[in-house]
Amino acid sequence: MSDPASGDPSSAASTLAQAEAKIAACDDLAALKAVEREYLGKQGVVAALLASIGDQPPDQRRGVGQRANALKQGVQQALETRQGALAEARVASQRRGEGFDATLPPPRPERGSLHPLTQVSRELEDLFQSMGYHVLDGPEVETDYNNFEALNISADHPARDSHDTFFCEGSGHLVMRTHTSPVQIRALAQLEPPLRVVAAGKCFRQESTDASHDHTFHQMEGLVIDREISVAHLIGAMKTLLRGIFHRDLEVRLRPGYFPFVEPGFELDARCPFCEAGCRVCKRTRWIELLPCGLVHPNVLRAAGLDPDEWGGFAFGLGLSRLVMLRHNIDDLRHLLGGDLRFLEQF
Ligand SMILES: [Zn+2]
Repeated sequence: MSDPASGDPSSAASTLAQAEAKIAACDDLAALKAVEREYLGKQGVVAALLASIGDQPPDQRRGVGQRANALKQGVQQALETRQGALAEARVASQRRGEGFDATLPPPRPERGSLHPLTQVSRELEDLFQSMGYHVLDGPEVETDYNNFEALNISADHPARDSHDTFFCEGSGHLVMRTHTSPVQIRALAQLEPPLRVVAAGKCFRQESTDASHDHTFHQMEGLVIDREISVAHLIGAMKTLLRGIFHRDLEVRLRPGYFPFVEPGFELDARCPFCEAGCRVCKRTRWIELLPCGLVHPNVLRAAGLDPDEWGGFAFGLGLSRLVMLRHNIDDLRHLLGGDLRFLEQF
């Protein structure tokens, strides 16, 4: 750099030219600030020039002062001009959309997925709706009457022992529903027969938990009330249900089963969809125990104010949790409601 303090006017002019060149080369505000500090700061070139006035011969002091002021003004002017140019360039670049590529795919928000229980539940609801059923919902806290009494399970009925019930403290008559069957009672109370309904949801039992038992599990309940209903109707509906779930026809068989709210009651088994000769899922029997069902008990009809000689019906209860486990080959029921994202992210 030439020495502006030398008193040589041409040297001062070349100092300004140098400053202008530096300023013109600045690409952003930070670089401009640095040049401003270099020339106009407290330790800057102009300050040094002014400080040197006292060392000059008296006849040259005025000239040095004038050159210092000229340099200061020149640098200030150049800084302002460049600052304006940079701001204009920035706005122009934004208007041109530089740095924005409209052909790039947009950033995708993270997406969750439906719980496997919800998926199966919705599929079955769609299936039953296509067969003319209404999809109902019922409360998870039920009255003792709806959960037991109206389903032909009186207070001293031994079947209550198999329902390890959570009672709501202090209420005297409220329970966490132990099955979805109370929705049948609500449907009968509110809807006029003939009717076809399904209801899916959570049920609760005070079980010690293991791979196939949990205190909370999911069921789907179905009820049909009409005239002249027979076991053949029941089997037909169940075969359609199985075709919807496994996407092919499966052989079924009925075994006698006891449930207080149906008569006769059955356990429905289906041919194992996973094997030809026995596997772990069917415990080498080639049959899978799938759902309890039966014709609606006359006492249940009477409790709903219907004449059993005129009306009949069938009901079934499907273990949704078990179905989801079968479909996805899940070996432990507790995974379903365990809330472990590593498990849930697979669906
Ligand atoms: Zn099998």
